[in-house]
Amino acid sequence: MRINAKRLEEHFEAMSLIGKIGETGTCRPTLSPEEKEGFEIAASWMKEAGMTTRIDELGNLIGRIEGTDPTLPVLMMGSHLDSQPYGGRFDGVAGVLAAIEVAVTLKEQGIVPKRSIDVISFADEEGWRFNKGLFGSRGILGKLEEGELERTDKDGITRRKALIDFGCNPDNLDAAIYPAKSIYCFLELHIEQGPVLDIGEKPVGVVTGISGPLWWTVKLKGMAGHAGSVPMPLRKDAMVGAAEIVIALNEIASQNPANPTVGTVGTMKVFPDSRNIIPEEVSFTIDLRDIDLDRRNLYEQQLRDRIETITNKHGLTYTISEDTNSAPRYCADWIKDIIRSECVANKIEAPELMSGPFHDAMALSYACDYGMIFIRCKDGISHNPLEYSSYEDLALGTEVLYGTVLKILEK
Ligand SMILES: [Zn+2]
Repeated sequence: MRINAKRLEEHFEAMSLIGKIGETGTCRPTLSPEEKEGFEIAASWMKEAGMTTRIDELGNLIGRIEGTDPTLPVLMMGSHLDSQPYGGRFDGVAGVLAAIEVAVTLKEQGIVPKRSIDVISFADEEGWRFNKGLFGSRGILGKLEEGELERTDKDGITRRKALIDFGCNPDNLDAAIYPAKSIYCFLELHIEQGPVLDIGEKPVGVVTGISGPLWWTVKLKGMAGHAGSVPMPLRKDAMVGAAEIVIALNEIASQNPANPTVGTVGTMKVFPDSRNIIPEEVSFTIDLRDIDLDRRNLYEQQLRDRIETITNKHGLTYTISEDTNSAPRYCADWIKDIIRSECVANKIEAPELMSGPFHDAMALSYACDYGMIFIRCKDGISHNPLEYSSYEDLALGTEVLYGTVLKILEK
């Protein structure tokens, strides 16, 4: 191997101490002191690779290897160092540390690229703190939406305030934008976060595309009342409606088990949130994904119909606000071909697979060609402290990434 597997492992071990929870978990929220600490150590490794480093106004950490021809569009690679609140050590981290390892190896091999290379840890990929993800990767493309800075976290802190506290200037976000055609391509290595490679006993996979998520926030409104006195037939219980909708989504998403469709309600807020008051207002999130957009649209309509029927039955009113609606995005054939040939060169039999989870690469797919490498992840567990990928697999994938970068630099 040309990359240094031992150094890569040491970087993982060091990063896993930052925001560590329990034995193997991580809580490193976006724009937090923990993420800042992660950025500082990652930046120190980038500097060892001879990179210049900066944190842009969006809260992205960016390291750059200056190419000999600064007029050429950059080769970009990376992922994210923020984690879920009860997350693992590898989600996102793998892509950042693999990219840094590639940069260090390039320096060790005395390779000075013609085009510049940017290694990025994107701000707020995970999307749980402010209920909307891919902030940094959409931000560098100028694709933020109205009101994003005013979104608040659980403690009422706005993204604007969090950015300022992180040292960024939210009034100057345009400074972070990469102009059109300034990115040649984007590469992201990521743990699979699903069981396909593990079941197939394959360490590495070639990603064909990312399925598109539909994210809603649904708000149901009924009528509060004393839990001890209001007779059942007279109730307008928002929680009962919410419970039925949760079941309905589950039924819709699993109507054909052969399809990769998935549907989830992951959060719920109850008002007034008291044991002896009938819930007046319940708001919850919907997450619906599929690689086939027509099918997802069909299921969306089924869900809308069910919500209409259920709320009518219980005398509730409702609103649906759409937080994210992305179409599936497919990887570039020419990059897939290079990744595949690098797997062959490393004697890896790498299957092709779709990604159910979205990634920063999905945002980048609207600006340039992209490719992704998946790493086997034990039992498919992710967004959980039990998440595990072996250092052997991660090193193999990083070696494939290195070879891929070399091939792309020839272009
Ligand atoms: Zn991730």
